Parts: sequence; structure tokens; C-alpha cells
Amino acid sequence: MTTPDHGLQVTTGDLAPDAFRVAGHRTVEWIAGYLAGGVERYPVLARVRPGDVRSALPADAPEEPEPLDRILDDFERHIVPGTTHWNHPGFLAYFGISGSAPGVLGEFLGSALNVNAMLWRTGPAATELEEVALGWVRRMLGLPAEFHGVIQDTASASSLVALAAARHQVPGLDVRERGLAGAPRLVMYASAEAHSSIDKAAIALGIGRSGLRKIPTDAELRMDPGALAAAIREDRAAGMVPFAVVATVGTTSTTSVDPVPEIAAICAEHRLWLHVDAAYGGAAAVLPEMRWVLAGCERADSLVVNPHKWLFTPIDCSALYCRRPDVLRDAFDVLPEYLRTTGAAAAGEPRNLMDYGLSLGRRFRALKLWMVLRAFGARGIRDRIRAHIELARRLAERVDAAPEFERMAPAPLSVVCLRARPRDLAARGGEPAAGAYLDRLNEALLQAVNATGEAFLSHTRVRARFTLRVAIGNLRTTAAHIDRAWEILQAEAARLDRELRPPALA
Ligand SMILES: *Cc1c(COP(=O)(O)O)cnc(C)c1O
Repeated sequence: MTTPDHGLQVTTGDLAPDAFRVAGHRTVEWIAGYLAGGVERYPVLARVRPGDVRSALPADAPEEPEPLDRILDDFERHIVPGTTHWNHPGFLAYFGISGSAPGVLGEFLGSALNVNAMLWRTGPAATELEEVALGWVRRMLGLPAEFHGVIQDTASASSLVALAAARHQVPGLDVRERGLAGAPRLVMYASAEAHSSIDKAAIALGIGRSGLRKIPTDAELRMDPGALAAAIREDRAAGMVPFAVVATVGTTSTTSVDPVPEIAAICAEHRLWLHVDAAYGGAAAVLPEMRWVLAGCERADSLVVNPHKWLFTPIDCSALYCRRPDVLRDAFDVLPEYLRTTGAAAAGEPRNLMDYGLSLGRRFRALKLWMVLRAFGARGIRDRIRAHIELARRLAERVDAAPEFERMAPAPLSVVCLRARPRDLAARGGEPAAGAYLDRLNEALLQAVNATGEAFLSHTRVRARFTLRVAIGNLRTTAAHIDRAWEILQAEAARLDRELRPPALA
């Protein structure tokens, strides 16, 4: 008896070339249509409940081979509708990002090569292209030549390994061999607005969250350097060992930019490792007029910027730059016999990427980044980022001019923080009842906007007040999309205020 093999030439082999071509062409056609506007046929935020996707699919893998056509049908039927569309031009939540077409092709080719670039010899081109592409990005951002780049999967991983390097070089400790048992209490610093990945790094590194001091911010939500210096002195006096400061360029909540020059001076004075988290905001420095965002970062020991955030590279791709890559390598390199390069190759072997992070295996992520940088060119990248900043500026002006809304934070990059605040309540914002109502109104506003399917926003709290964020970063977002989102915001805010306003505040 034979079973249909649907293009599988032999039972244990891969898809036959012709079957691959047919399915591949269909896949490329689907992607092309999706990116060309097909994505706008779907609500940005998936309209599914937890478990919907799972329950539409069988509990077991199919026993017999299935044809690619049927699998692709199910991709369209079950997977796409269960997807929140990050590549939708109405995606304005968190940080708007784009997996651009050249990057999609890079992913395609990268998986065909299936390179694992743990050692130079297991991926010479992957290893060297990573150096080349990160060198290009470094020069585009105006970072110093001593900054040596290595790709990690996410900014969370980049910050974790950078802070592990910082911990490694604390004098008198030998964490690699002895761990932290018996060590003095280590402490690191970040602003109260720093990303949660820094908390996670503190947890993973054995510093603990109590070893991460959150420094208060100024009126514009930037780290207060005076408070940082005072905290360091206080901790030293209490017998603790300060070892690192994380400055944020473009906080996740409001995109505030910490005063890195002042922070760098404090780090130099106290010999602390300065790590800069510029996961999203760093990309703005490709523009001459935005270079200021990385001012002082030339003095950092390490800096992370995510090409998968605002450099149009499909997730995941995070660039970690390190002034002293030897420290990073010393913190992590462990060379078992089975990974040793022997013979003549050993003598001239250049760096092995596995030494610069936690994972041994690593994908060929540089390929997609290289393809994006070439397909758009540095000028193309600048044009796109400038356009996003311009869209944000326009929206910020409208919010400022609207009597029924207020802007909640400066908008130096491409994120606008705002909330509805009916005109007649403006003077009463300090009253507890009015404050609570404004939070409730804006929470309802967020749900209402997202329910339209046309735009997807997320929120934060700015000084405890519920705040909506409009984050622009998608290649396909135009002024028309932002105007439409603003129209929806205004109409829904007026409607909800009529419905929800308690009589006491009428
Ligand atoms: C997004 C973001 C991160 C986390 O990025 P991942 O790559 O998802 O880990 C860290 N810091 C800042 C400032 C961010 O905006």
C-alpha cells in the first residue's frame, strides 16, 4: 500500500524541488499581497479570545504527510486571524515596528542556509557579515570606532550580558568561579523609568531587585544625576559595592532621554560600568539633527540598540556594542574540547561569536540587517525615521491645540503620550474624584479605539495618571493613518465622556 506523499520524493527526505517551488511561490505571493496593503483587511489587534486558535487545531500532529497547499490554507484560515498585526500601519502600540520586505527576504535566505554561527568556522560569512553590518550601523549612529558590535536576540539579552560583563570586572570578585556567595552586596542604578529588562537582569545576575536602585527623574522623566551621585555615595558609605549604571535613551514609557553626559561623568568618577539602553531611541541618531540623543554615549562601556525596533529589521535582532569586548568574552568564554578548533585552522581563527553571550547556537541575523541597510541605503533609513518623527510632531501639535486633550510628556522621538481631559474638568484635575474619573475615561477610550480594529494603541502611567501612547514606527504608516487615529480618539472621547461622567462631576 502506498500513501500519497504530496511531493515528498522519499519518505524521509525533504520536500521535492518542484513542490517547494510551488509552495514557495504561493508563500511569496501571499507575503507580497499582505505587505502591499492586504494587512489592512484585518483588525490590527487580533479579535480572538484565549484558546480560540488552539481549539481550532488538532491535538496531535498528523500521522501522514499533508500537502503544503492545505497547510497554507490553514495558515490563512487560523493563524492570520489569530495574529495581532505588527506590520499594520495602524499598529501604534508599544513601539511601532516594521519587518520590512528586504528583511523578510533576508529571513527567508537565512533559514535556507541554516547556519549556526557559534564558531567562525561554522559560519565564516555570518561571523564576518555581523561585524560589517554592525560597523555600518555604528558609523550611521556616530558611535566611536572602539565600539565592537555583537548581535543578540533581544535588548533584554544584550543588557543582561553587558551587565554580566560589568559584574565580571568588579575588582576582588571572582563570580565566574565562586559565584556571589560571600561577596559584598553589589548594587547597580537605573532611572525609575528604566525598562523591566533591567529588573530581570538584576534577578538573573544574582544582584536581586533590591540591588537595583531606581533613581528618581526630573520634570521631563529623565534620570536626576544629582540623585544618582547621592545614591552612590550613600551605598558606598553603607558598605555596598556599586558597579554599574544603566542610562536609558528613549524610555519605553514616554521616550525620555537620560542626561548621559552627566551620568557618564559620575560613572567615570566612581569607576562604574555605564550601559546605555537605547533599544528604540538610538536609531534616531542616524539623523544629524537627532544626534544629540546619543550625546555622552561615546563614553559608555556598552550600548544596545535594536534594529528590530526602529531600523526595519524583522524581529529578532539586537545590536550590543561594547567598548571592551574582552571583558564580555572573559565573562562568558568556556571552551569544551568538542568546540575546540584544531589543526592549522586554530592558529588563525578569528573571534567566535559564542564567546560573547549566553547561547552557543546563533542564527544568521546579520543577513537580514545587511539586506535592509543595502536595500534602503543610509539615506533611505534617514528619510523614514525623519518621516516618523515628523508625523509624531504633527500629532503632538494637534493634541496641544485640542482643548479636550492634554499631552502627558515631551515627544522628542516618535511617540506621543496623551490623554482625554474634558475642558471643564481641566481645573478640577487635582480633585481625587476627577482624577479617578479621568483614569477611567482614558482606560475606556483605549478599549474603544482598539475595538475599532483600525488602530491599536497601548498605555502607560505618567506620574500615576493613565496615559495613552501613540507610537509611530511602521513603514506603512502615513499621515492619513495618524489623522484617522486622532479622529477616532476625539470622537470616542466625546462619546465616552457623555456616557461615563458621574453626576458629581457634571
Ligand atoms: C523594547 C525595549 C527593551 C526590550 O527589548 P527586547 O528586545 O524586547 O528585549 C528594552 N529597553 C527599552 C528601552 C526598550 O524600549
